[in-house]
Amino acid sequence: MNFSSDTSAPAHPSVLEALAAANTGLEASYGNDAITLRLRQRLADVFGTDDFDYWMTASGTASNALALSCFCPPTGAVLCHAGAHIAVDERGAPEFFSGGGKLQLLRGPDGKIGSEQLDEALARINHDFVHETPAHVLSLTNLTENGTAYTVAQVADYAERAHAKGLSVHMDGARLGNALAATRAAPAEMTWKAGIDVLTFGLTKTGAIGCEIILLFGKAREKKRELEARAKRSGHMPPKMRFIAAQAEAMLKDDLWMKLAMQANQAARRLADGLQSQGVELAFAPEGNEVFALLSDDQVARLRAAGAVFYPWMGGSQRLVCSWTTQAEEVDALLSALKA
Ligand SMILES: *Cc1c(COP(=O)(O)O)cnc(C)c1O
Repeated sequence: MNFSSDTSAPAHPSVLEALAAANTGLEASYGNDAITLRLRQRLADVFGTDDFDYWMTASGTASNALALSCFCPPTGAVLCHAGAHIAVDERGAPEFFSGGGKLQLLRGPDGKIGSEQLDEALARINHDFVHETPAHVLSLTNLTENGTAYTVAQVADYAERAHAKGLSVHMDGARLGNALAATRAAPAEMTWKAGIDVLTFGLTKTGAIGCEIILLFGKAREKKRELEARAKRSGHMPPKMRFIAAQAEAMLKDDLWMKLAMQANQAARRLADGLQSQGVELAFAPEGNEVFALLSDDQVARLRAAGAVFYPWMGGSQRLVCSWTTQAEEVDALLSALKA
């Protein structure tokens, strides 16, 4: 009954098989190997376009910080939700990588930036007023940190408003698969077709070992060289890149990543339904693979005594995360422990 995080889950066996298969012969290094190069076609198939460039790292923090630093100058700002991973969980990496760029934190319910808050922030941008820090990027997280999903229409609407003010739009897709499973949207619809310029596409939480792909779409491709230079400078240019690419290839093959994301979402749905049927209130709509349950101290103690692992979350709820490996029996065991 371990609901601590999808980062605690093991990697899918297909990923390990792919690593073993990649472990033969000599290959070009630094991303010039055959597996990294042929990944282009698979990404093109997934995202329905050839008009992109990509880079890979082993952590979401590195991918986010690298991606944002290409679009936010040291004197600029990134608009993001106050609870965003880049604001709360990355120890200042975006600011560090951008050389001093600022995060401008916006409020809004359910982990999503509020429409009015976005408008206010965009209206304030004035490049001629030297004292304020103008926003250069809007960063949206999908799945959000509260386990909710922005719809394609919301992303497209926000991206359009940001673009009208000259901003670039970033999506933190550490749990993109869960967001797509929640909204039944295609990867293309949720990203470049909705106006996303740069995507950090996470496969680690979904079932890889460490594989986070940065995708630059359309006009954003002009940042390719800068992204590579920044990756090199910051130590995110692993020589044996083929082993990151092999993970991506295994995850994208036959839509494994989407199947695993759907499995995780289904387990969370089972958990959420079971909790609600016992009268437990949820702090947020459980749209992806995370459930935020408002449990009493008594209930928390009972579950912990039964061996359930989960963590308290900001705002007083308990976060229970399902992964591709969460079994229905584990969910049911937690639910009966709660009842007992
Ligand atoms: C997990 C996560 C990341 C990446 O975190 P790392 O631990 O650095 O891989 C980024 N964004 C969001 C929203 C996340 O949940």
